[in-house]
Amino acid sequence: MIVILKNNPDKSQLDSLISWIKEKGLQVHMSVGENHTVLGLIGDTSKIDIDLISALDIVDTVKRVQEPYKNANRKFHPEDTVIKVRDTQIGGGNLTVIAGPCSVESEKQIIEIARAVKASGATMLRGGAFKPRTSPYSFQGLCGEGIELLKLARRETGLPIVTEIMDASQLPLFEDVDVIQVGARNMQNFNLLKELGRQDKPILLKRGLSSTYEEWLMSAEYIMSGGNEKVILCERGIRTFETYVRNTLDLTSVPVLRQLTHLPNIIDPSHATGRSAFVPPMALAAVAAGADGLIMEVHNDPPRALSDGPQSIRPEVFDALTKKLFALHSFMRENSQG
Ligand code: PEP
Ligand code: MN
Repeated sequence: MIVILKNNPDKSQLDSLISWIKEKGLQVHMSVGENHTVLGLIGDTSKIDIDLISALDIVDTVKRVQEPYKNANRKFHPEDTVIKVRDTQIGGGNLTVIAGPCSVESEKQIIEIARAVKASGATMLRGGAFKPRTSPYSFQGLCGEGIELLKLARRETGLPIVTEIMDASQLPLFEDVDVIQVGARNMQNFNLLKELGRQDKPILLKRGLSSTYEEWLMSAEYIMSGGNEKVILCERGIRTFETYVRNTLDLTSVPVLRQLTHLPNIIDPSHATGRSAFVPPMALAAVAAGADGLIMEVHNDPPRALSDGPQSIRPEVFDALTKKLFALHSFMRENSQG
């Protein structure tokens, strides 16, 4: 971190700034120029509040030269993180395909869909039991019963299960869930993130609707700094001025995250587009961009789905899509030097 001071800084204020920085365990390198004095802060600056220093009378500007996230930073962990979930692995060149309905609706529904997606090559089953709906009058999910039905579907198919938590108080119900999803609306629910940092379970962390990469990685940092390193990042579309589609899929996040972090990153083309017709092309684009996987909504009767029917693809569409996805992924791996 570099702190550029204003002309002729007050000596006592400067001394107190320097001793404050040293109290934080950092070293200070001062260089006195003709017009400006510059302080170089050496050490772990992740605990320094940049706004606090910027607000001081003697300070002109402050620049971070190092990202504020440490655990998630590729600089300190060059190797890709690979997360093992039962017999499957996320990251490290594998293609993870998570598929299933938006909501678990009934035993018949989840078992039928689980069997279909498994037969098409899905590596995990998704299904919401606790649903964060925009309207309190919409279907809120089957809650604990939904989780029991997911476990039943896992017993039937062997597929690991991914489901969303909305509040830390629900954690006892998630004991036997394979991957806990944090939804876009909860990306900055810091109390929840801290609690998940104490769990020994992979966390699928969706990007907030209007969050920057840095905010997103700082949320991953909340989980990781608590001791849980198993974080999977998921881009699910962000808010832009465009209203034709539900959200705008930011596929640039794939190569950006690859550079900034060692954590696996997957794409959710269902929530990103909001329309089933746009899911296959964007899923293929995500694999072409180098994503570690996808999470997609698949429903056996989309018009009657209790949530997100318009963006849910039918099992036969999913089947044709997965063939292309795995073929494209093999092609990308074989030509990875290009
Ligand atoms: C979901 O996966 O069904 C969901 C609610 O996703 P998001 O948090 O991305 O809106
Ligand atoms: Mn949904």
